[in-house]
Amino acid sequence: MPTDLSEAPVFRGVVALDGPSGTGKSTVARLLARRLRTQYLDTGAMYRAATVAVLRAGVDPADPVAVAAEVSGRRVEVGTDPWHSSTTLDGRGVDQDIRTAAVTAAVSQVSAVPAVRAQLVAQQRLIIGSAPTVAEGRDIGSVVWPDAELKVYLTAREDVRARRRAGELGEADLSRISQSLRRRDDFDSSRGASPLRRPDGATEVDTSDLGIDEVVELLVELAFRAVSTADRA
Ligand code: C5P
Repeated sequence: MPTDLSEAPVFRGVVALDGPSGTGKSTVARLLARRLRTQYLDTGAMYRAATVAVLRAGVDPADPVAVAAEVSGRRVEVGTDPWHSSTTLDGRGVDQDIRTAAVTAAVSQVSAVPAVRAQLVAQQRLIIGSAPTVAEGRDIGSVVWPDAELKVYLTAREDVRARRRAGELGEADLSRISQSLRRRDDFDSSRGASPLRRPDGATEVDTSDLGIDEVVELLVELAFRAVSTADRA
C-alpha cells in the first residue's frame, strides 16, 4: 500500500462492507478507508461497547428487556479516523475491554436486541451521512445504508477464518475457535432483527485465497468504478 496518500483521490461515497467474522473485514475496511481517504466506521466496536456496559452492570445478556434498559442509558461512541481506533463508553476508553473473550461470547445476544440496534443504527446513520465512509458490520448494506455506492459481502472458507482468528488471538485450538465462530455466525444469521446476510446488490468476494492487499486493491477499483458509473447514469 502506498505510504503517502495525501495526493490520492478522495472517494465521494459510501462503501458498505458486510460479512461474518474472520473474513478479514476489519483489516480490509480500515486499509480501504485510508486508501479512499474517507472516514472508517467499525459498527462491531459499537455493539461490543454496549456489551461492555451490560456485563459491567451485571445484567444478563440473555434478558433483552434488561439489556435494552441498560444500553439506553449509556453513551457509546466510536472514532472514525482509519489511522487511530477509539471506542468510548460514557466518555471512557474501552478499546481493550471490547476485545475480551467475555465480550466476544456475549455480543451476539446484546446485538440481537431490537432496541439496542435501533439506538446504534441511528448513530451509525448520522456518522455515515456526515461524510464519505467505509463502514463495516453485518447489516450495513441491508439496513443501515442500503444506498451505498458500493456494497461488498466478504466471505472465506471456515478453516481459513478459524486460522485467521487463531492468529489474532494467539490461540492454538483451531476446533474450539471454529466452534465459537460458527456459534456466533449462526446466532447473527438467525436473529429476527437485521440478520447477517448478503445484501441485495452486494458483490461477494471470497478472501480465502487472497492476501489483504489484493482484496483492498480490488475494492479500491470497484469503489471508483461504482461512483464513475453513478456519475454517468
Ligand atoms: O465485527 P465484530 O466481530 O467486532 O462484531 C461483533 C458482533 O457485533 C457480531 O458478532 C454481531 O453480533 C454484532 N454486530 C452486529 N451488527 C453489526 C456489527 C456487529 O450485529 N453491524
